[in-house]
Amino acid sequence: MFEALSDRLTGVFDRLSGRGVLSEKDIDEAMREVRIALLEADVALPVVREFIAKAKERATGEAVIRSVRPADQVIKITYDGLVEMLGGDEVEGLNLALNPPTIIMMAGLQGSGKTTTAGKLALRLSKDRKKVLLASLDTRRPAAMEQLAMLAKQAGVESLPIVPGQSAPDIARRAMQSAKLQGYDVLILDTAGRTTLDEAMMSEAAEIARISNPSETLLVADALTGQDAVRTAKAFHERLPLTGLVLTRADGDGRGGAALSMRAVTGLPIKFLGVSEKIDGLDAFDARRVAGRILG
Ligand code: GDP
Repeated sequence: MFEALSDRLTGVFDRLSGRGVLSEKDIDEAMREVRIALLEADVALPVVREFIAKAKERATGEAVIRSVRPADQVIKITYDGLVEMLGGDEVEGLNLALNPPTIIMMAGLQGSGKTTTAGKLALRLSKDRKKVLLASLDTRRPAAMEQLAMLAKQAGVESLPIVPGQSAPDIARRAMQSAKLQGYDVLILDTAGRTTLDEAMMSEAAEIARISNPSETLLVADALTGQDAVRTAKAFHERLPLTGLVLTRADGDGRGGAALSMRAVTGLPIKFLGVSEKIDGLDAFDARRVAGRILG
């Protein structure tokens, strides 16, 4: 594992054997390599800086263990730091309301995988014997509403009947009423997305959050977005009561630096990873797996 970084660090440390502690200069050189590895994995620059500062602190004064190559020591410090920054070994599941229905609101840019993820969550919850209702609030895109209805069928759950001409807040109210009256455990609200961040989208999503007071407001983001991830996460976090992140396309080629960037910028737990286009392609987040991927 981590061959690319390992090779680079071996070069840095070849000269080092025989010395008692890692010197500041050695650490600086090693951290330069770590920095490149993180940037190559598409971690956002401010997050890379923060990470390197912490890792440097940890590495300073570390005794060189005879049986362990210094390169491996630095890799371990880096890997452990990444796991910690990604939230450690604790896996955060969904917060379910004490009094059903639990409301889960999905937010994110158009194309992030928001609607697909709503369907995946519905399937997951229905496997846990929850009665789930899916509702699309994407009034500007009838196709998105139909897509959610199809996903509901695939997941074997109900979707709120589509009433053309209703506003998003009105659909949210109707969905909440149906969920309550018909004894649903979970209502998933799929909000409208935009290709870019815009004020109309944000204020509509904020209003829906106010109306529905969700137990979970999940930001769905594409794991391949790279440097843009920070801007997106910040913008949504400022306006919505986000409780967690879902990163989609974790099955793609990217090294997934966006996961670290978004987690660092928002402090929110990453709850799930989307790992395929299929309805069952949703895994619980695993910090070790993602840290390993970032190191390449
Ligand atoms: P939305 O506009 O945010 O609702 O995005 P969609 O849910 O319509 O997803 C956009 C595209 O991404 C669709 O073709 C999905 O099948 C695909 N997609 C969503 N999640 C994943 C994932 O985890 N992995 C892969 N490979 N594709 C995904």
